[in-house]
Amino acid sequence: MPEPVRALIPRLRAICGDDGVITDTAQRRTYESDALTYHAAVPGVVVLPTGTEQVAAVVRLCAEHGVPFVPRGAGTGLSAGALPRDDGVLVTTSRMRRIHEIDIDNACAVVEPGVANLDITRAAAPHGYYYAPDPSSQQVCSVGGNVAENSGGAHCLKYGFTANHVLGLEVVTPGGEVVRLGGKAPEAPGYDLIGAFVGSEGTLGIATEITVRLTRAPERVSTVLAAFATTDAGGAAVSAIIAAGVLPSAVEMMDALSIEAAEQAVACGYPKGAGAVLIVELDGPASDVEAYAAVVERLCREAGAFEIRAADDPDERARIWKGRKSAFAAVGRISPAYIVQDGVVPRTALPDVLRRIAELSARSGIRVANVFHAGDGNLHPLVLFDDAEPGAAERAAEVSGAILDLCIEHGGSITGEHGVGVDKACHMPAMFGPSDLDAFDRLRRAFDPQGIANPEKLLPTPRLCGERPAVRKGEHPLVAEGAGDVF
Ligand SMILES: Cc1cc2nc3c(=O)[nH]c(=O)nc-3n(C[C@H](O)[C@H](O)[C@H](O)COP(=O)(O)OP(=O)(O)OC[C@H]3O[C@@H](n4cnc5c(N)ncnc54)[C@H](O)[C@@H]3O)c2cc1C
Repeated sequence: MPEPVRALIPRLRAICGDDGVITDTAQRRTYESDALTYHAAVPGVVVLPTGTEQVAAVVRLCAEHGVPFVPRGAGTGLSAGALPRDDGVLVTTSRMRRIHEIDIDNACAVVEPGVANLDITRAAAPHGYYYAPDPSSQQVCSVGGNVAENSGGAHCLKYGFTANHVLGLEVVTPGGEVVRLGGKAPEAPGYDLIGAFVGSEGTLGIATEITVRLTRAPERVSTVLAAFATTDAGGAAVSAIIAAGVLPSAVEMMDALSIEAAEQAVACGYPKGAGAVLIVELDGPASDVEAYAAVVERLCREAGAFEIRAADDPDERARIWKGRKSAFAAVGRISPAYIVQDGVVPRTALPDVLRRIAELSARSGIRVANVFHAGDGNLHPLVLFDDAEPGAAERAAEVSGAILDLCIEHGGSITGEHGVGVDKACHMPAMFGPSDLDAFDRLRRAFDPQGIANPEKLLPTPRLCGERPAVRKGEHPLVAEGAGDVF
């Protein structure tokens, strides 16, 4: 353990108590990565504060000694944003799990950052409300992590990402000051500092209390599955649905290879011979949902759907979603190893980008299965390869990187929802010019002049830029436990 960290330990114990400071090597090792296990480092020390005062005291101590700190929620991130530092303090929010208030009159909840996303919905459900952003990891991921990553989910097409649901924040700045941004009121004057903080990946401080908007639970939910010969035909149906003024809560698509994988893994029973399936979910007042479902079915048929199924019943809806929810883990059945990519393009660019991905795949001999949030152009290409074959990993990494270049070329982004972290920091210069990156850095320095808050994340750092993207083998442990689906 580097000396500057060792020297802090007695004072960290005085702040968090003996059981709130982890120094044992084996125990520290359990925090060595987030869900992107390819990037790993044993933290210098781990602290488990129980409240804002303890977080602020720990951060002040770090600032006084110039020691870096890394915030961590549940560690489900997929971009190595919570990757620890051996010369730093890992500040984990797992003991900050209180729901302070469910305020139905103001349709909001006030929670600590370690609260799991789904626990807000569980607490609000008896009142007929829920928390809308729904990452597939929602059973375990923390609201603090959601705020830091501006997390999304299948239903963010209609309801927006985390940024659209955060009303107020209490933040410990990298200098150790406790500040409040926003509150229960829908709008605050001045610069949108909540907007700056949401998605800042732990680089602007630690959120210690979060006020989120609650959404009224819909009267009716209906799910439509449509099978097409090609993704182009499915894409045409998506454009027609949106152009008709229908706003589904979710629009998801899978191509032939991902359907094949899901079929092998969970026998989802999707229509045989489908080159693409589209899942469209509608919610709202029963009369609207019925009317819009009829429009969706008609538009799908006009775009060439050869089979359509629809369900209102929760069990039947779950059967439709089964293949989609298993798709990521399922490709482990058809490939020994794969890279999960996350990029986004304007919805209208989807057909061209998919064609170009197919060309890349044909040229390189690397198969790519496409699963995506078609409604908002968020692609999750799964780049498949055999890691026993010499050179295959390198070719897969090249294809994976080229897909991000395609996203940028089409006016999109290198990440749709998983964040930049360490993993994609090196791709930032492909998307932003030196003056943009400089402006980001100046914003960061305005909050953190010493550069101690989650260093080397989000913005490019030359040393890390020689590393390859992460590779996944087999099922993710959270998926295996039934605690989440990679979506
Ligand atoms: C099976 C699976 C499915 C997933 N599905 C989705 C999905 O559908 N949509 C999606 O968007 N993501 C998804 N993810 C990614 C991940 O769950 C989200 O990014 C989530 O928001 C991370 O939350 P966490 O608590 O695990 O954060 P961590 O991984 O612990 O940290 C993530 C980042 O947040 C920072 N951070 C954590 N807490 C705080 C805080 N209190 N204040 C400031 N910074 C903080 C960390 O420093 C780090 O940069 C999935 C992951 C898995 C493993």
